[in-house]
Amino acid sequence: MSKGESLLSARVQAMEESATIRMAQKSRDLAAKGVHVISLSLGEPDFDTPEFIKQAAWEALKKGNTKYTPVPGTLDLRKAICEKFRTENDLHFTPAQIVVSNGAKQSIANICMSMLNEGDEAIVLAPYWVSYVEIIKFAGGVPVILNAGIEKDFKVHPHEIAEAITPKTKMLIFSSPCNPTGSVYTFDELKAIADIVAAHGNMLIVADEIYEYINFTGKHASIGAFDHVRHLTATVNGFSKGFSMTGWRLGYMGGPDWLADACNKVQGQFTSGAASFSQEAAAVALRAPRDEAFAMRDAFLRRRNLMIDLLSDVPGLKINKPQGAFYIFPDVSAYFGTSNGNVQIHNADDFAEAMLTEAHVGTVSGSAFGADQCVRLSYAASDEDLKEAVRRIRQTLLNFK
Ligand code: PMP
Ligand code: GLU
Repeated sequence: MSKGESLLSARVQAMEESATIRMAQKSRDLAAKGVHVISLSLGEPDFDTPEFIKQAAWEALKKGNTKYTPVPGTLDLRKAICEKFRTENDLHFTPAQIVVSNGAKQSIANICMSMLNEGDEAIVLAPYWVSYVEIIKFAGGVPVILNAGIEKDFKVHPHEIAEAITPKTKMLIFSSPCNPTGSVYTFDELKAIADIVAAHGNMLIVADEIYEYINFTGKHASIGAFDHVRHLTATVNGFSKGFSMTGWRLGYMGGPDWLADACNKVQGQFTSGAASFSQEAAAVALRAPRDEAFAMRDAFLRRRNLMIDLLSDVPGLKINKPQGAFYIFPDVSAYFGTSNGNVQIHNADDFAEAMLTEAHVGTVSGSAFGADQCVRLSYAASDEDLKEAVRRIRQTLLNFK
């Protein structure tokens, strides 16, 4: 460690860099050297933001909507979010219970910083999205990780949640549809989880529903809509995935008054309100029909099927059938202990590294998501890129013995 680095806080030194962002950067770095890299690492829709949303932002800019907004978001956007929650999710909030943030990532950070004391436990259903665990630890909490493998479709059984609850438990956090697995908890599974939390009565569910529209099962179910956990749920959502607005940096949470007030206070000290013109366009997006969102979902479903087809031709990979999001999460452990004479694969990190250096395909190791047998491939890419990526992976793996 250099002299300067020793000035860094212990908290930051203990924090892992985001693996999704690191692998995306590694893919870019290799591409900058002239290598043709296909990056399936970053979880980002490959579609442009729908034109009418861009138009709305442009109109907002033209009329001078370029100033600070209230910290929790403009009243107009929060009203549009309340209406969206009511009509699509059967969730009933007042605008005072909504906090709009710079992405769902900040919503989750606000919640964790608002709730966790040193040593408080947060139950995380694994495989989990990379940032949950680091945010929980940064806030002083202790992640309690419950794991489910591919044979269980990566879904933790509710009774395991009941067994993990201790007097220190403050929250349960998970995403459905899930990043990185694409798994979707069914209505009945969500109800069983809600029953457990309601029986406990003094913990919060953080339901990350950012992939709500990219759900291949039919209707999305929100756990916060079960009557007995309405007051015990914070629902997190955002514009990045469903509306393909990753760069606009807009997410939000709806939850109990005490939590919204705390998130508002935290955000007021850290970043203030999200971008004003992004918010105006987002309100327009929410009030419009979902045609574009569902067209993107249909494209992802078609690509999901294509990926299952393509990957089932790669020897040794175990795959399941993801029901949402735009990821596939093969178990690659059959390759642990193999080598192509140039590089060795001992674990999922080596596998992802080998795919980048030998096949020039960017993926993310499952270890970042609490699943060290798997790697994540995003299929938010063109058919041509997906076909070529899997062709390269297959070709490369044939040499690993
Ligand atoms: N939750 C999950 C499960 C995600 O995949 C992402 C993607 N980045 C986020 C939250 C955060 O999204 P954003 O900050 O772009 O709204
Ligand atoms: N959520 C996306 C992913 O998982 C974007 C990157 C990030 O914010 O981690 O790849």
